[in-house]
Amino acid sequence: MTADPVALARDLLRCPSVTPKEGGALAFLEKTLKAAGFSVHRMTFHEPGADDVENLYARIGTAAPHLMFAGHTDVVPPGDERAWAHPPFSGEVDGGELYGRGAVDMKGGIACALAAVLDHLAENGGKPKGSISFLITGDEEGIAVNGTPKLLQWAAERGEKFDHCILGEPSNVNALGDTIKIGRRGSLNGQLIVRGKQGHVAYPERADNPVRGLVTLVSALQAESLDNGSDLFPPSHLEFTSLDVGNKTVNLIPNEARARFNIRFNDHHTLDSLKALVEQRAAKAAGGKIKFAFQWAPSNAGVFAVKPGPFTDLVADAIAKATGREPELSTSGGTSDARFISQYCPVVEFGLVGQTMHAVNERVPVADLAALTAIYRTIIDRYFGS
Ligand SMILES: [Zn+2]
Repeated sequence: MTADPVALARDLLRCPSVTPKEGGALAFLEKTLKAAGFSVHRMTFHEPGADDVENLYARIGTAAPHLMFAGHTDVVPPGDERAWAHPPFSGEVDGGELYGRGAVDMKGGIACALAAVLDHLAENGGKPKGSISFLITGDEEGIAVNGTPKLLQWAAERGEKFDHCILGEPSNVNALGDTIKIGRRGSLNGQLIVRGKQGHVAYPERADNPVRGLVTLVSALQAESLDNGSDLFPPSHLEFTSLDVGNKTVNLIPNEARARFNIRFNDHHTLDSLKALVEQRAAKAAGGKIKFAFQWAPSNAGVFAVKPGPFTDLVADAIAKATGREPELSTSGGTSDARFISQYCPVVEFGLVGQTMHAVNERVPVADLAALTAIYRTIIDRYFGS
């Protein structure tokens, strides 16, 4: 008997697991994976000021190579439930599509990985020639402090070693097979503060207007590009998002002016080298005449990428076999848990099509669930050489 990804996805969709609620989704995975011979750990993590979050780690096999499937069972709220064609936690199929919050982001992806793994095990004596694990968090759509980072750290402390990971986020833009995400730009937020001297607007010689200095530094930082892009990434980019003086008085020169900005950066930089570069350029433009300082927001969004090679070829070939498409290897888009996983092993993101994610009437074609299961199955079979 082969596993049915539509039935598995429907069972997951019926669990109302809006972050940080477990909603029965991890319990369902635990039961299903245990029945297939996995050893399953349910981990609840805590952090002052954040909600407790439940997570799951399950592994079968003890040998290398070790292939990990990662994902999250938590979902964003459904919004106005009356606007849905079918209740968001009912998992109904209509017109060849399965409806529900999380259908593509990403209970559908988890269901496909689960179905593919169960089928692989069933046809290979119940054991992989190596190890397969599921690393599933309930804290991806939230602030992500009690999820994947802590789960990975916990796994590392008990000696778990991963060789490759597939994160089943909805990576495709328009059609199943069009995009594999192999990395992401880094993201850094900062604030530039220029200090002057407050005074009457009619007597500027007695004051020092920081707006003048801020404009000079902002212009200088906008004038020069950070790099010209790399093999895997577009050019890094600094974008100012707000200029703030907060001065409500018409005849007052303020004593301070601020500019907020974000930088999306590629693999020419690290968080530290980038801060140094920006500070150095500002210092040059200030020429010792403008008093300024930077405040950098804490960031755990460094740049990462998997170099195209045997593993990305394996994934791309499996996609081509099932869909006839040649996927683009992309580094675009916002952050995901891949940034945490990349610190432990190479990770690619490949899942369903993202078009309806987080939207009313989130849904997935049943045909896509079958195709994604076939793709994952080919990847697993070839990864373990069976
Ligand atoms: Zn997601």
